[in-house]
Amino acid sequence: MTFTASSETDQQAASATQRRLEPERAPVSVAPGDGIGPEIMDATLRVLSAAGAAIGVEPVEIGEQVYRRGLTSGIDPQLWESIRRTRVLLKGPVTTPPGGGWKSVNVSLRKTLGLYANVRPCRSYHPFVATHHANMDLVVIRENEEDLYAGIEHRQTRQVTQCLKLITRPGCERIVRYAFEYTRRRSRRKLSCLVKDNIMKITDGLFWRVFEEIAAEYPDVETERLIVDIGMARVAAHPERFDVIVLPNLYGDILSDIAAEISGSVGLAGSANIGEHASMFEAIHGSAPDIAGQGIANPSGLLLAGVKMLAHLGQTEAAELVHSAWLKTIEDGVHTADIFDAGSSRRRVGTQEFGDAVIERLGQGPEQLKAPAYVPGPRIETAETRKSIEKKELVGVDVFLDWSEGGPDDLGLLLRSLAEPRLPLQMITNRGVKVFPDGQPETFCTDHWRCRFQAPEGGVEHAELLALMQRIDARGLDFIKTENLYTFDGKPGFSLGQGQ
Ligand code: NAD
Repeated sequence: MTFTASSETDQQAASATQRRLEPERAPVSVAPGDGIGPEIMDATLRVLSAAGAAIGVEPVEIGEQVYRRGLTSGIDPQLWESIRRTRVLLKGPVTTPPGGGWKSVNVSLRKTLGLYANVRPCRSYHPFVATHHANMDLVVIRENEEDLYAGIEHRQTRQVTQCLKLITRPGCERIVRYAFEYTRRRSRRKLSCLVKDNIMKITDGLFWRVFEEIAAEYPDVETERLIVDIGMARVAAHPERFDVIVLPNLYGDILSDIAAEISGSVGLAGSANIGEHASMFEAIHGSAPDIAGQGIANPSGLLLAGVKMLAHLGQTEAAELVHSAWLKTIEDGVHTADIFDAGSSRRRVGTQEFGDAVIERLGQGPEQLKAPAYVPGPRIETAETRKSIEKKELVGVDVFLDWSEGGPDDLGLLLRSLAEPRLPLQMITNRGVKVFPDGQPETFCTDHWRCRFQAPEGGVEHAELLALMQRIDARGLDFIKTENLYTFDGKPGFSLGQGQ
């Protein structure tokens, strides 16, 4: 539709009408990042714009230029304001300066914004990009905030360090529900859960229990549980057997790199970091300083992250338009240096040329590779659903000692003499192996001892624990930490001992 404006007032009215007819632009915070970041961001934004993506770019700064201004976070404080407004960040890769003192921008963004779900599709593009797995098309959904990444570490004795693995019920519920919803909405058939609950019965056990509970609400989704070691081995050997995989943070970190690598296309994968208040979209690769400024980087990872962002914003048509044109470009053998193969590729191109090739193919789709389909729909809601109503009872305490004045039996007899009959010494373990009573002489012991005092009848008062600690202190023993023992509806909320 065109407008003929005869006067200034007419012109103003015409442009106001034009504005109303244009789709509303979704504001998006955009951080180009470091190294190849600005080049691939430029190509990405050009393609999104040519496809008619209705986005309004708000530039923000992260990475080297911010570190250089002396901000150890690497994040310009104005970024938080921008994201609060836009709720969406398209982010280029960031170089973490070597040496201590600098924080990882990625970890800060993920944790501060509560980006709990990291969604990384890993798909092969056989025969256009070399891979051993022609039919691979899986999605890794990694819990993004908890687990060993809480960053709570201590050196407790001269010999022993620890890192706390925190797994919470609300955290599990959120990520598992997200994974089930994602599987259902994308019409995928199966959701696999990878845990190590045969060893970590309480933490990984919780993740698996929550998975089982929520699975009951999704009878249309086929489920399976695999112990993480054999699970990862199977993904590496037979990725085509998997569809969607949900797993705790550390396992997810490892598996998503394995999956991306074996798809033959690490440089081609984009990822979404989803939270309740904001979401962040980025390529999975880093800032590639070795090729920065040469105009040869592959912009595909960031472009596909941009496609995910459009789908997230509800602009599913534009998302499909770009994704289809990108697949056609790959099929046509127009490849950047990282995936160029003299046998199967046709034209070797630079970053911007690749962007141009995608733009030329807007409106076209793949002939052999599966065409993308983005379904518009409401955002996945994963707010906490269950409140715990179990009865919690204090039944004892694990006292951790730094001690190296003898063997397990010496320590056992000493602690027995300090215990009250209501709160007796039940056992001592060293690195999780029971060494008192009835330990084996072959067991290697460090200077780090867990001494369990547990009331057979339960119902212990905090004051009794304090009295015990005072006697331990008066005897000159160095207690490095204590961990209270609770039961929940009579079931122990603590591991029972070695190998149990
Ligand atoms: P990298 O992913 O930057 O590079 C690994 C190799 O892959 C290099 O040879 C590089 O040239 C190549 N490569 C990566 N992306 C490419 C692309 N789009 N096109 C063509 N080739 C590409 O990993 P790195 O070298 O280990 O890390 C470099 C920096 O990036 C480090 O400071 C690291 O901390 C950071 N990093 C950031 C992120 C992120 O911001 N999400 C992720 C990983 C690494």
